[in-house]
Amino acid sequence: MKIICIGRNYAAHAEELHRTTGLPAEGAEPLWFLKPDTALLRNHDPFYIPVFTDEVHYECELVVRINRVGKAISERFAHRYYDEVGLGIDFTARDLQRQAIAGGLPWERAKAFDRSAAVAPTFIPLAELGGDVRNLRFELAVNGEVRQQGDTSQMLAPVDRLIAVVSRYMTLRMGDLLFTGTPAGTGPVRPGDSLRATLEGRELLRCDIR
Ligand code: ZN
Repeated sequence: MKIICIGRNYAAHAEELHRTTGLPAEGAEPLWFLKPDTALLRNHDPFYIPVFTDEVHYECELVVRINRVGKAISERFAHRYYDEVGLGIDFTARDLQRQAIAGGLPWERAKAFDRSAAVAPTFIPLAELGGDVRNLRFELAVNGEVRQQGDTSQMLAPVDRLIAVVSRYMTLRMGDLLFTGTPAGTGPVRPGDSLRATLEGRELLRCDIR
């Protein structure tokens, strides 16, 4: 399986990070990148801050699980390729990402490292959540304080367009995970922090920072 991540998919977050990643150009294709399967962090396991970075940020995101093989999927049929959603945290070494962008280099060192993709163990059938992937609310609390609030209606590119764009280049397979971008409010993690993510009021993911 592969993990596909979308960058800059909420305007307010793109604004907050524009010094790091630049603002998306009007009408530009969504920005995406991959994490390998070794990046998975499952079962509410703790996240250990790696030695090679001084600045790891959390990015809480809606995660869509692909349920069938598809290639060059059109946006109008994209909804047939998923029926469950969950939450994840795209842990990002912001200092390394800044270096990569300044040097015009790939983002893997900042994004694809081991355990950088925390994924909630439970995915929820979309039908149970009202059936509309463009109308979901999620939030992340750090040490009990809400830091990120996402509403999928605010995505710059909705899920179905993301699937269409990515599948133009890469075949999607059953079990692939699509991290759909993070809303505003990302920030650094420190040892001892406790992260909790909820989707439509249900706590799906816990992750303690060590
Ligand atoms: Zn992200």
